[in-house]
Amino acid sequence: MQITIFGAAGEVTGSAYLVTTPRARVLVDFGMFQGGREDAERNVVPAGLRPRDLDAVVITHAHIDHTGRLPLLAKAGYAGPIYGTAATLETTELLLHDSARLQASDLLRVNRRRERAGLALFEPPYTEEHVIATVARFKPLPYDQPVSIAPGVRVQMVEAGHLLGSASITMRVTEADREKCVVFSGDLGPLGAALLRDPGQISGADLVIMESTYGDRDHRPIAETEAEFAAVITAAVTRRGKILIPAFAVGRAQTVLYYLAELFHKGVVPPFPIYLDSPLAIKATGIYVRHPELADEGWDEESERRQLRKDLASLVFCETSDESRALNNLHGPCVIIAGSGMCSGGRILHHLRHNLWRYDTSVLIVGYQGVGSLGRALVDGADHVEIFGELIAVRAAIHTLNGLSAHAGQSDLLQWLAPLAASRPRIVLTHGEVRGRAALAQLIATRYGISCELPAYDATLAL
Ligand SMILES: [Zn+2]
Ligand SMILES: [Zn+2]
Repeated sequence: MQITIFGAAGEVTGSAYLVTTPRARVLVDFGMFQGGREDAERNVVPAGLRPRDLDAVVITHAHIDHTGRLPLLAKAGYAGPIYGTAATLETTELLLHDSARLQASDLLRVNRRRERAGLALFEPPYTEEHVIATVARFKPLPYDQPVSIAPGVRVQMVEAGHLLGSASITMRVTEADREKCVVFSGDLGPLGAALLRDPGQISGADLVIMESTYGDRDHRPIAETEAEFAAVITAAVTRRGKILIPAFAVGRAQTVLYYLAELFHKGVVPPFPIYLDSPLAIKATGIYVRHPELADEGWDEESERRQLRKDLASLVFCETSDESRALNNLHGPCVIIAGSGMCSGGRILHHLRHNLWRYDTSVLIVGYQGVGSLGRALVDGADHVEIFGELIAVRAAIHTLNGLSAHAGQSDLLQWLAPLAASRPRIVLTHGEVRGRAALAQLIATRYGISCELPAYDATLAL
């Protein structure tokens, strides 16, 4: 068998692996490249993939850097199954529709300019129609049960603890009575994260393809992050101002809700209104509610869940833009959770424009802020920012909470690998920039005596 790597090789986006055996062709993840200038040229179906010849596609989790190119398969005529866990497929449907809408609106702006300049208009890579065709191919897989997905290929989904529904994939390939086992880690979550189960233990593999995003460092301990969160919220409540939380709609927004419920429940602060001002986050929260079986202990028990609902009695969903605008006239203390996470668009921009100049406002940054984003400017201490062409003074208190990563740090990655390392597999590191990947390779060599492979884009591994 062969595995060709069509993304996330020496970088963290664009995950895609083509597994070829004499009897089958299976694609694992088909993510979008994000954050680079040449992305448009790279977000295509690579030569050699031949969508019509695929037997099956299986995805580890819903993040766009693992699923964002799936609609290109439908566009190219792929009509086979796309497997993932039920929660992953529900979330992927949301995120792909959102991605298609975003691409369309971005392109609308660009094309208006091109039209005025007399240039040819750009086509979007795919449209909602292709997303609908993609979703029609979705077939849910259970956790922890081997399922045959193509001739001679069985997969088993194992909890990855990174996002609701996320999985590592154990793939067993049978050729001429010999079986090989390949493990795809997918993105791995940290141990002990709120809401999610810890990554499951896997042992016995011939080849492990492992993520290395934070291979060079550990995050702050979760308990410290929780304490810091409590301190920021308590201080903001004392000032009776608004607390703005720019949050990624899927995953991070729900973690923040969970932490707020805990503060109310423990009586750290008296309950105050929380506004979830994001249609996407509202829908994503619905997926969490529909899948209590995936929740960590604490959400597992019926009584605990009832409790959480009681603790979050002050949670208000803002679906429409009118409901969102109405928040301008409110007084604190209250929390407004709105996208986008990096303040690069979405409803959070309106809230920042209306509140950044006030001394009693707090902004709580809970996720990674890309270079050049408005969120990064706030974190870096800008005293003025431009929003919708208007110069706004930054008088609000800006807090950054760094410990809420959805990714395992270095120690947790090594711990995940421990039971696998016993069978001395080949180890291939992907989904990491040079720093993370090289540091993890070094550690694995020292600790387990296995020298890792660090393939480049389009590399083919023969097994
Ligand atoms: Zn991910
Ligand atoms: Zn990823």
